[in-house]
Amino acid sequence: MIKFLDLKAVNAQYEQELKDACSRVIDSGWFIMGSELSNFETEFADFCGVKHAIGVANGLDALILSIRAWKALGKLNAGDEVIVQANTYIASILAITDNDLIPVFVEPNPVTYNLDAVTVRQAISSKTKLILPVHLYGQISPMPELMNLAEEFELLVLEDCAQSHGAELNGKRAGSWGNAAGFSFYPGKNLGAIGDAGAITTDDDIFAETVKALRNYGSHKRYENIYRGVNSRLDEIQAAMLRVKLNFLPKETLRRQEIASKYMANIKNSLICLPTRSIELSHVWHLFVIRCVKRDELQEFLNAEGIQTIIHYPIPPHKQKAYSEFNVLNLPLTETLHREVLSIPLDPTMTEISVDTVIEALNRFTI
Ligand SMILES: *Cc1c(COP(=O)(O)O)cnc(C)c1O
Repeated sequence: MIKFLDLKAVNAQYEQELKDACSRVIDSGWFIMGSELSNFETEFADFCGVKHAIGVANGLDALILSIRAWKALGKLNAGDEVIVQANTYIASILAITDNDLIPVFVEPNPVTYNLDAVTVRQAISSKTKLILPVHLYGQISPMPELMNLAEEFELLVLEDCAQSHGAELNGKRAGSWGNAAGFSFYPGKNLGAIGDAGAITTDDDIFAETVKALRNYGSHKRYENIYRGVNSRLDEIQAAMLRVKLNFLPKETLRRQEIASKYMANIKNSLICLPTRSIELSHVWHLFVIRCVKRDELQEFLNAEGIQTIIHYPIPPHKQKAYSEFNVLNLPLTETLHREVLSIPLDPTMTEISVDTVIEALNRFTI
């Protein structure tokens, strides 16, 4: 079986370093808010090219707490509208509604599946206060255009970077474009912990102080609480694991890009629509998502060939039961994407033989 992503093999590459780092934390006797976290925060901020990275418990909390911080600072209010692409993962939407803001779903660009400045402009109303671009599948959104729009209409920008660690445009990385960004280090992400973890990046000192307080009960200073915060901390073990894996992220990203290039050059089947990338470094290939009108048949065929695939995602957020108030929305492109997309194996530890096997099977698919 060619696995979609063999996490055991991915982490086995760094087994000794991970175990040594784990022992270092156990031996230190300090498990929450210590030097592993502060060092990881410095290293990850450097990696993204920002002043601050603030570790939190997961990617969803990174997005939720970013919006909460702006509410605490009086920059956002309940009822404000947030423009977001309709074909995102549900976490992006949960972060908006959890804060009592209103998601305004827009269709993605049909080629990149990301936000498009033209449709965003059409969706801006007097209540719009925030744009939430999701760098979906690992490809960075058209940030220069979106930042220009944000400036023109005085909007905040929160990047959802859960799938795009290290993606860059004009020499600037994902997480350094908007007013803030949320990252996930869920185990299967390009930079994955050995459990749950996340981070917020920003250049804004006051915002950074606010999210630091919010993640720790709303406390700036021990036992003094100015906000009703939450407990959303990134623990020392996970920070130590992430420090090890951050060192290898550039190498893993290169390997992902190499596999994706090979897929792009060699998958040739008129029934299959390949993804695109604007420029080389703009895509870190968290997922390699193809489209096929006969998606379910293709998935079954690949499964029979011993190739594991996943659908990201089968039901768009606005069609979920949890969001019944949005079920009436008509977003044909988004709904088509959710019927046609299929993510094929893209694992930095894949062998050339496995890559060739996937290509060969895809080229053989007929209906
Ligand atoms: C994974 C993901 C998240 C949430 O991250 P968690 O760490 O699982 O909470 C948010 N947005 C997108 C686009 C994601 O892919």
